[in-house]
Amino acid sequence: MTELRELTTMRVGGPARSIERPASAEDLAEAIRAADEWLVLGGGSNVVAPDDGVDATVVLTAGLRGIESVAADGGRVGLRIGAGERWDDVVAFAVERGLAGIEALSGIPGSVGAAPVQNIGAYGQEVAEALVAVELLDPASGRADRVPAAELGLGYRTSALKRGERDGVVLGIELALAPSRDGVIGYAQLANALGAAVGAAAPLQAIREAVLELRRSKGMLDDGAFPSCGSFFLNPIVDENWARGLPAGAPSWPVGTEEADVAAPLDEGPRHRVYPDRRDVKLSAAWLIEQAGIARGYALPGSRAAISPRHTLAIVNTGGATAREVLQLAEFVQIRVSQEFGINLRPEPVILPAPAGAL
Ligand SMILES: Cc1cc2nc3c(=O)[nH]c(=O)nc-3n(C[C@H](O)[C@H](O)[C@H](O)COP(=O)(O)OP(=O)(O)OC[C@H]3O[C@@H](n4cnc5c(N)ncnc54)[C@H](O)[C@@H]3O)c2cc1C
Repeated sequence: MTELRELTTMRVGGPARSIERPASAEDLAEAIRAADEWLVLGGGSNVVAPDDGVDATVVLTAGLRGIESVAADGGRVGLRIGAGERWDDVVAFAVERGLAGIEALSGIPGSVGAAPVQNIGAYGQEVAEALVAVELLDPASGRADRVPAAELGLGYRTSALKRGERDGVVLGIELALAPSRDGVIGYAQLANALGAAVGAAAPLQAIREAVLELRRSKGMLDDGAFPSCGSFFLNPIVDENWARGLPAGAPSWPVGTEEADVAAPLDEGPRHRVYPDRRDVKLSAAWLIEQAGIARGYALPGSRAAISPRHTLAIVNTGGATAREVLQLAEFVQIRVSQEFGINLRPEPVILPAPAGAL
């Protein structure tokens, strides 16, 4: 019997009722139709699966392959990519062909189909910036529709799919990329690594290599060195006035520089049109955790889950950890940060519910 720990990068989780590996979108729709309870998984890199397993058929998307050209507006190059392709293979494909727009998303583990689910982002880029549409299977009707990205409620590590506002399985995505050998550096750490300024142009290949190296140094590649599901906590977004009460030196960024750039073209006026009610800032969850006294490598006594020795935001499985140990540590971090700063850190991964009746 396949255990979810074999299908997830955090390496936790008990058995699934059954596993389906459909080779096509039609087979996937059929597998879902035939199952009374089902759960779709790509690379399992953003889930914490319960120790008792899931009382459902796990449907894997890995068989939904293919990258093909499609039409795109504004001189850009359109690609339609199957949900089961590895995300990083697509980034490598784009970089090799001189297509800009996703190079800073190099090295993010997982599948293409999951990329829009939490609007993957890193080093100043988000998939939302290149995403045109998804092909979405409606599990109830078995029908697949092309849904424009604008209808997916994409935000900071979220979407209508992740929030459960919309049901559906992503069968494929459409990206529009700019034909260019260079990309724009959108993040200070990346700029430092490249010896250039934020906003400057750099060759796509150089950006990709610098991002992969930064990720390696933080244990944020899925290479087995630090089993995790990436960042465990979101950077909290709080009211700017409230943030002024934090200790001096607390890093904060105006919210939505990237969202606002996408949502409000310059000729449409100031940013308050996008955020009419309040001015928010994004805080550093890593800074808050460290200031709450939790250092890299920290583990609760006797636990095999630990804060990554390389990255404060990641919880790693140091060998044989259970989901319970991972979640206990996550809760401990949340409580400490909440006691110290009055901020509730929200988890980034999807925490799958334990089956009914399990402890
Ligand atoms: C080392 C490491 C580093 C990471 N770094 C980043 C990062 O920099 N930025 C970032 O954004 N994320 C990061 N992540 C998180 C993760 O890689 C992404 O969220 C990725 O998109 C998850 O893809 P997956 O195929 O593994 O999804 P899974 O973990 O298999 O699934 C995640 C969720 O999406 C759902 N889902 C999966 N496929 C589909 C589909 N086809 N249709 C509908 N729903 C689906 C699942 O049911 C589940 O709820 C990191 C993870 C790791 C382990």
